[in-house]
Amino acid sequence: MEPVSSTEILLGTSCFITIYDMEKPAGASNALSEAFSRVSEMEQRLSMNITDSEISVINRDGQGPLSQDSLEVIKRSMEISDESDGRFDFTIGTLVSLWGIGSRGTHIPTEQEIADALATVEHSAVELNGNTLILEREGTQVDLGAIAKGHAADLAKEELLEQGVTSAIINLGGNVQLLGSKPDGTPWRIGIQDPRDSRGQYIAVLTTEDTAVVTSGIYERYFEEGGIHYHHILDPDTGYPVWNGVESLTIVTTDSITADGLSTALFAMGREAALEYAAAHDSVDVIVVDDQSNVYLSDGIRDSFRMTDPDFHLIEE
Ligand code: FAD
Ligand code: MG
Repeated sequence: MEPVSSTEILLGTSCFITIYDMEKPAGASNALSEAFSRVSEMEQRLSMNITDSEISVINRDGQGPLSQDSLEVIKRSMEISDESDGRFDFTIGTLVSLWGIGSRGTHIPTEQEIADALATVEHSAVELNGNTLILEREGTQVDLGAIAKGHAADLAKEELLEQGVTSAIINLGGNVQLLGSKPDGTPWRIGIQDPRDSRGQYIAVLTTEDTAVVTSGIYERYFEEGGIHYHHILDPDTGYPVWNGVESLTIVTTDSITADGLSTALFAMGREAALEYAAAHDSVDVIVVDDQSNVYLSDGIRDSFRMTDPDFHLIEE
């Protein structure tokens, strides 16, 4: 069949889905609209920017019920918060709003504002009672921006599979979820973006199939002031952007919620801890690009990774 694509603006970003093959090609446009519906329904439940979403109600009232689907995202967020020792923290909402990076603003908060916001960030100060999420600290705000797009990509993939799709690419603002392989059975070739150039310049190519490929980086949402680069991945200890030399970190694994959550978590943990994490988890691979244009890989993807930009150097460890 001829590929069938659709684009929608959802989750504050451009979302693309292309179907390359399916059991009944006449159903392609219906399958696309059903997949986008799943993404949009999830956004209605989990967005902080929608006033009556489940998350907005919880952030306003300090507690509230979660639908089954949202419960899954919260549970996964809790696990990744624990696993990363709080480097990833889904209760970071107050700090995220204070900085406003990529949404409202470009202002550097005062030390006092940062200290006040940090006092509300503590992933262990929440309780799940059945399907009710309770925020135990005054001022705590849940922010699922680091993980929910990944979940949306998983939902879209699930829907496409139910619709009989056998080959597709789902791209939700850089969260790439591959369904199957190319129609001819060979793997996809996915470009790894130049972290300093968000306009589709690639530094390397990854050959892979049926995986999620998700990148967190410092050049999508940021501002600069006084020669300092303030980006949107924030350090739950200092309250400032994570400045650890990492410019982008890509996770390759099976499910997109894990890829998205870990992309932010391992970014915040830093290069060495990220590579150690991947070495200890067979199903997770990682690509780290640092501010010296060095590229580090976990062992699992060495054979399927090829540098294409001579300005970047692959470091063999
Ligand atoms: P990631 O690295 O995956 O995540 C970074 C984001 O996670 C930050 O922007 C922040 O929100 C949060 N974060 C920062 N530090 C940490 C940390 N240490 N631990 C945990 N989380 C952290 N954008 C809009 O402009 N308008 C919208 O209306 C809008 N609606 C959205 C609705 C939903 C349901 C979702 C999931 C996202 C929405 N977004 C919207 C995008 C969102 O604001 C983030 O910019 C985006 O999710 C960041 O994704 P990323 O893949 O670039 O970065
Ligand atoms: Mg993420």
